[in-house]
Amino acid sequence: MIILIDNGHGKDTAGKCSPDKRLLEYKWAREIAGFLCDFMKNCGYDARLIVPEENDVPLPERCRRVNEICNEYGEENVLLVSIHSNAAGADGKWKTAGGWCVYTSPGKTKADTLATEIWNAANVWLKPYIDRFPLLQSKGEYDSKQRPIRADWSDGDPDYEARFAILTGTKCAAVLTESLFQDNKADVDFLLSVEGKNAIIRLHADGIMSYINKPDK
Ligand SMILES: [Zn+2]
Repeated sequence: MIILIDNGHGKDTAGKCSPDKRLLEYKWAREIAGFLCDFMKNCGYDARLIVPEENDVPLPERCRRVNEICNEYGEENVLLVSIHSNAAGADGKWKTAGGWCVYTSPGKTKADTLATEIWNAANVWLKPYIDRFPLLQSKGEYDSKQRPIRADWSDGDPDYEARFAILTGTKCAAVLTESLFQDNKADVDFLLSVEGKNAIIRLHADGIMSYINKPDK
């Protein structure tokens, strides 16, 4: 199995940062993607970064790179994970939305199995974040509707579905994770912490490994 890791956006993408500019999504995503790729390689897997560049490689080119590898190795032997962090707005102000979630394209595909494995791993690796959530919620850091691990159970699995180009334009099992919110102060603190970065890297690694080792995926 070839593990392809996509890191959202680029240095030249407008917006996509925390209101205090401490977290730049392109930079954070590249750091996480780089460590995840190295971690998977150290575990003996063939892991590759789809966008090693700092600039925002357009989505059609990202999809082309993925599909080229799918054509070479067979799409059933390739998976793609796109690393992002979420935002509740684009007005440069702190918000009260928070939490982690995973997206697949609409319909039942192998990506649903991959997404569920990563979602399960998120529930394990984000336990410190999950445990702190109610206290932070009571202090108003998160509004009452927020959950630390977000899920859409309407079709029987926990992933959200969206027609993101990186999901619909690629042939292999592909998921996109939104790891917490870049415009929530408590979330940004966690995302920039050593504990937070490690948890985000490990939940992706464990989810991918569980998927690969599943006999009937
Ligand atoms: Zn993003």
